[in-house]
Amino acid sequence: MTDRVLVAGAGPVGLTMALELARYGVPVRVIDKIAGPSDTSRAVAIWPRTLELLDRSGVTADLLAVGNRVIAANILSGEHRVGRIRLDETPSPFPFALMTPQYETEGALRRHLKSHGVEPEFATELADIQQNADGVIATLRATDGTARTERFNWLVACDGSHSVARHRLGLAFEGDTLGLDWTQGDFYLTGFPFPASELAIFWHPEGALMFFPMAPDRYRIITSLGPSTDAEPIPLDLDAFQGVLDRRGPGGVTLTRTVWTSAFRINEREVNAYRSGRIFLAGDAAHVHSPAGGQGMNTGIQDAVNLAWKLALVCRGFSAAPMLLDSYDAERRPVGAEVIHASGRLTRAATVESHVLQALRNFIAHAVLRLPPAQHAIAGIITEVAIGYPHSPLNGPSAEAGAGERVEPVGEEGLYGAGVTPRFALHGDGDGAASLASEFPNLLEPQLRPARVAGILSLVRPDGYLAMSAPEESWREIASYLARFVAPIGADAAHA
Ligand SMILES: Cc1cc2nc3c(=O)[nH]c(=O)nc-3n(C[C@H](O)[C@H](O)[C@H](O)COP(=O)(O)OP(=O)(O)OC[C@H]3O[C@@H](n4cnc5c(N)ncnc54)[C@H](O)[C@@H]3O)c2cc1C
Repeated sequence: MTDRVLVAGAGPVGLTMALELARYGVPVRVIDKIAGPSDTSRAVAIWPRTLELLDRSGVTADLLAVGNRVIAANILSGEHRVGRIRLDETPSPFPFALMTPQYETEGALRRHLKSHGVEPEFATELADIQQNADGVIATLRATDGTARTERFNWLVACDGSHSVARHRLGLAFEGDTLGLDWTQGDFYLTGFPFPASELAIFWHPEGALMFFPMAPDRYRIITSLGPSTDAEPIPLDLDAFQGVLDRRGPGGVTLTRTVWTSAFRINEREVNAYRSGRIFLAGDAAHVHSPAGGQGMNTGIQDAVNLAWKLALVCRGFSAAPMLLDSYDAERRPVGAEVIHASGRLTRAATVESHVLQALRNFIAHAVLRLPPAQHAIAGIITEVAIGYPHSPLNGPSAEAGAGERVEPVGEEGLYGAGVTPRFALHGDGDGAASLASEFPNLLEPQLRPARVAGILSLVRPDGYLAMSAPEESWREIASYLARFVAPIGADAAHA
């Protein structure tokens, strides 16, 4: 029988997790303690790699219909342009950042989840957990306080930065709170000097100011407030925001209406293990960082995609190799650490206080951002297409690009892991594919895909990363790689 999975939290990460598992035929339930779908704007940027991965379930098409495409990021200091990072050269079918409120992203995920017969159970809180070798006992509490226990085979905790699961497991959430207060909001405005297809970051001696266009007249604006005090930060109102814009911005911008505002402090924290037995953590439950760079939701969605195919193979009894589920922590924890590091660097660069350091920062950034290789490297980090798993325990030998690297999805051929079964895809030429596919019917797609590199067999994971490659006709090398995943179920340490 297929294992049952509980997903705690119906934010963007929990919904992605549930959707991926549901389309792979895994019985999944998703609960959330809030009364109904969230209508808050929160994360607005969806980067190319996330669009590529959500394309496999059809979600990206919905998002493209409502989002605003941004193809460049400008960095300015006063009148002076420090740099311009092009996103339209990203090697992706989606060479842009898509700006849309988080409630639209969650709505699209919920609709697709419903098409697989699963709907979030709201007003249902994960109150407690216990686990043993066979499963997870979850205590679920309704809003009237009544509680019941239910057993699942696996729990994926996508319950946000205050994760109950993380606390119950006693996992450390290591890191710091930065000493600056920030405020942000969505506004209607006039007079912005860039087209709606370009975002802009102003480095002002007083502090940073960022504009993310969600529509030609609607922007997410984020700005620093100054050093934190003992008091909680308070969001600015429209007049105060306007004052900051007049001092730090390009001039001539008029705010006409506030949609939403908030104030926050930046936490940079990561959990010390993404897996504890039968319980996994994903999204904000596992890592939180500066919103500069807008990576939070994207990184969490990619956590879910990384875990889903592995868990689905195990739940459906197609694989029991311990390294499959262990690789989730090995692959995603370094990514979380790097995102914290990179977004922290961006934040610190935007908020240096000394005038000497500001001048030095502007000089270096201007010089570096003029170099195309530096531009591409920075764009690759922001768009998350540069993320890969070079040290993954799942990597096999490689005769071409390094194992663990993202394989650029090109056309229909590039939809790795789409459909109802998470299978590896094999690119190449020759006659050995059919017998290989019949040897591993649940792990390998039946059809050979066209060669990516002449004379090379390339095996691509269901989440679109290169598993291994070998010279043509090396069918047995591919077979030995796949055989590692079919350890006998009874001897499964993954179930321990
Ligand atoms: C005000 C604000 C502004 C933000 N702005 C940006 C931004 O501009 N860019 C960016 O990238 N990111 C931003 N973020 C962060 C971004 O929203 C998160 O990274 C993203 O939502 C993470 O998704 P998640 O699903 O992991 O967690 P969440 O979206 O936090 O979802 C967790 C869900 O779990 C539920 N839950 C919690 N505990 C339990 C429990 N015990 N039982 C059941 N359900 C539970 C919660 O109700 C919630 O629905 C912002 C966040 C906030 C709060």
